[in-house]
Amino acid sequence: MPGIWVFGERRDQTLELLNAGKNAAKALETRLVAFTRERPSAEEFIAYGADEVLVLPQLAEDQPLESYVPVLAETARHEDPDVFFIAATARGKEIAARLATRLETGLCSGCSGFGFDQEKKLLRMERMVFGGAAMQSLICTTRPQIATIPPRTFEPAAVQTGRKGTVRELQSTPSSAVKVIKRSPKAKEAVNITEAKIVVCVGRGMNNKEDVDLARQLADVLGGEVGCTRPIAEELHWLPEEVYLGISGKKVKPDLYIGLGVSGQIQHVTGIRDSKVLLAVNRDENAPIFEAADYGIVGDLYQVVPKLIEELKTALKV
Ligand SMILES: Cc1cc2nc3c(=O)[nH]c(=O)nc-3n(C[C@H](O)[C@H](O)[C@H](O)COP(=O)(O)OP(=O)(O)OC[C@H]3O[C@@H](n4cnc5c(N)ncnc54)[C@H](O)[C@@H]3O)c2cc1C
Repeated sequence: MPGIWVFGERRDQTLELLNAGKNAAKALETRLVAFTRERPSAEEFIAYGADEVLVLPQLAEDQPLESYVPVLAETARHEDPDVFFIAATARGKEIAARLATRLETGLCSGCSGFGFDQEKKLLRMERMVFGGAAMQSLICTTRPQIATIPPRTFEPAAVQTGRKGTVRELQSTPSSAVKVIKRSPKAKEAVNITEAKIVVCVGRGMNNKEDVDLARQLADVLGGEVGCTRPIAEELHWLPEEVYLGISGKKVKPDLYIGLGVSGQIQHVTGIRDSKVLLAVNRDENAPIFEAADYGIVGDLYQVVPKLIEELKTALKV
């Protein structure tokens, strides 16, 4: 049966996709279908807008998430969905690519918005290209139209009262040639920067690795986390790759972003431009970051940041 399908690795991602899917289902006059791995969340997803929830079979301990590809492909072949939205996590991207190959259809990766071709009843998918310098708008004419959507691109769907829907358990067996032999927690320093409400970002304006501590002190006063630009992580290895921000790094939407010695190249700004308030400290008044910033301090970060910390400590009484 046609419909808009959504698959998120986690509950919050599914809720965001349900919000995106709701608009698509309305415009294409079809149903909204969510996948879940946990039976108890099925009713919840219906309350958040799904017309039907398909419960995936449990994975064995040694099976990676990609083991769902055969189940998803088989179900799609039988039921012929119009659109399939998948959360663009590392595993989700893998699933989407494999699924598109199996179903011989197109895939729009990193979709950040969409419109509709009402005549052809197709989704027009939008995404950033050329390092964030341009937007691409594309229509896949093969079915289903598959798109990966980065987490936090859409707000989570709102709960609605009195909604009714159906729940169906899928019986197919998950399988993968890959077996998980060990799971280890990530190193402690690898914070989840995308969840942080306040992000202090270290740029190449910092002179050496020890000075990152200055950014950490500022983040601690504000209860935030420390992120960085790509060269700080990839070239200098002062901070882990999990915390560099930008088009090829993490995209963040904190309440406050503070850039310290960050020039503001488009590849970086693409990952931070949705911050609610953007403050930049840079000694070059012509630095491009000031074009994106709500507040700018032109000055040497080694003079500005200690003063900021001092003032904030007094104001916040920490
Ligand atoms: C395909 C591609 C993808 C990329 N993806 C990303 C990405 O995802 N994320 C990313 O960050 N970059 C990415 N880049 C790299 C990006 O183009 C920039 O090179 C990078 O963001 C610059 O980092 P920066 O601002 O730390 O350093 P710089 O550009 O060197 O800027 C340093 C800034 O610090 C200022 N400064 C120096 N000393 C001080 C001081 N004492 N006090 C105050 N200010 C000072 C300078 O005025 C300067 O503006 C990508 C590049 C390419 C080609």
